[in-house]
Amino acid sequence: MSDFDYDLFVIGGGSGGVRAARVAAAQGAKVALAEDDRMGGTCVIRGCVPKKLMVFASSYREGFSDARAYGWDVKDGDFHWNVFRDHLHTELDRLEQVYRNLLDGSGVEIFDSRAVLKDAHTVQLADGVTKSAKHILVATGGHPVKPDMPNAHLGIVSDDIFHLPELPQSMLIVGGGYIACEFACIMAGLGVKVTQFYRGAQILRGFDDEARGLIAEMMREQGIDLHTGTNIVEMKPADAQHPENAVPTASDAAMGADVQQMKALQTDVSGAGEGPIWVKSTNGREGVFDYVLFATGRSPNTQDMGLEEIGIQIGRRGEILVDEYSQSAVPSVYAIGDVTNRVNLTPVAIREGMAFVETVFKGNPTPIDHDLIPSAIFTQPEYGTVGLTEEAAREQEEIEVYCTSFRPMQTAFAGKPGRVLMKLVVSKVNRKILGCHIVAPNAGEMIQLAGIAVKMGATKEDFDRTVAVHPTMSEEIVTMRDPMRTA
Ligand code: NDP
Repeated sequence: MSDFDYDLFVIGGGSGGVRAARVAAAQGAKVALAEDDRMGGTCVIRGCVPKKLMVFASSYREGFSDARAYGWDVKDGDFHWNVFRDHLHTELDRLEQVYRNLLDGSGVEIFDSRAVLKDAHTVQLADGVTKSAKHILVATGGHPVKPDMPNAHLGIVSDDIFHLPELPQSMLIVGGGYIACEFACIMAGLGVKVTQFYRGAQILRGFDDEARGLIAEMMREQGIDLHTGTNIVEMKPADAQHPENAVPTASDAAMGADVQQMKALQTDVSGAGEGPIWVKSTNGREGVFDYVLFATGRSPNTQDMGLEEIGIQIGRRGEILVDEYSQSAVPSVYAIGDVTNRVNLTPVAIREGMAFVETVFKGNPTPIDHDLIPSAIFTQPEYGTVGLTEEAAREQEEIEVYCTSFRPMQTAFAGKPGRVLMKLVVSKVNRKILGCHIVAPNAGEMIQLAGIAVKMGATKEDFDRTVAVHPTMSEEIVTMRDPMRTA
């Protein structure tokens, strides 16, 4: 008979926390889970899932002209944001219920409450009730952060996008990471005039240079007014008190803001979006936008949780510091997912949760493997990647680079300029594929499969021995015979 109320108390009902709770319960553990927001967490409620549904919604725009090129008599349709948004939220409600049912079905006790740590084995719920547990798993995720600048409250963050009262005519997106680039493509696809500021020289820092270059080019081709080496220096409401700010200027047009057509939007989005916003940028331009979206990074949810008070170590970016078994400095407390700021991806949080259960409840110490994680950025076209960039590989050892870029059959037929990129970075020493980079429609689907081969340690010759599937885009990945360069 345990001295504790539970064997495991999980704080956070996102992908990682829910999976760990269910798998531990399936092992016979007595498990509780507390969540102070909606069950499903960032991925299901305000991240991957609604984002991907918006990707689908936005991708139909091109479909009309493509269909005409293929002989269909179709006209460009109008997009009704409210129809899509309401359907989206119905779907998210359904998914949230699925998550609850999964927990219920596994025998996990759910507390719809915030929980904080009181000591190494005790959590306190919002109503003051305390619960004890042999192990505590913190899986509280992260939240978007806005830059520290005057009037930043006027901007919205990715969480807010799914609740916009109406589709804006213009939007400025600040940032050059996953979220900024994905939403730039989504909003442009839905018909919004998108301007994007990225402070660095090229978007998607840390990814393969050639892939970044092609994506930036394709985004501009799509009509996104992308400015690199650019940031906001000043922003304020462009309201009647500042009529001078509501007058369109030549630079407004250059930045893509159609001030004439703009109307003051009244929204209830996190105090932001209460009307058009005037922005001055570091390149000296001025413009007015219906919304400013800050996609300037995310921070771990570790504030006011009593973590440091009980001896848990917190890193420079606010993350819980854990070892390879996800164990914190307090041995009974573990942490997984974005709150640890290791690799902030849903499937990684799930893996970390499973490895935690394996270690703690199955007596099989399992360190988490963060090597060769495939991932995709849902720009249009998508970018699928696994392994090293060419730049990182070059630093490590001698390499060969195999690369091809071409117009795929489907879009070439429709007279579209879209290009795709297939690239393999190969070790000269042992011929292993060190990195695979694909920029193409559905590259996310492709990289999942290529990722298996790369994870297995496939060599370039293994790829060469594989017969092409014809006619496909991905066949190029097994038909590149000569290196484009060596380094
Ligand atoms: P990222 O860290 O990827 O990007 C943040 C961007 O904002 C960077 O371009 C950064 O510039 C810029 N930035 C940061 N601070 C400022 C500032 N003060 N002023 C101007 N620009 C600034 O964060 P995201 O929010 O895009 O994504 C968070 C994480 O979520 C990702 O790392 C990823 O792990 C995950 N994610 C994964 C997705 C997927 O798998 N498809 C989709 C969405 C998110 P700089 O480069 O100069 O630092």
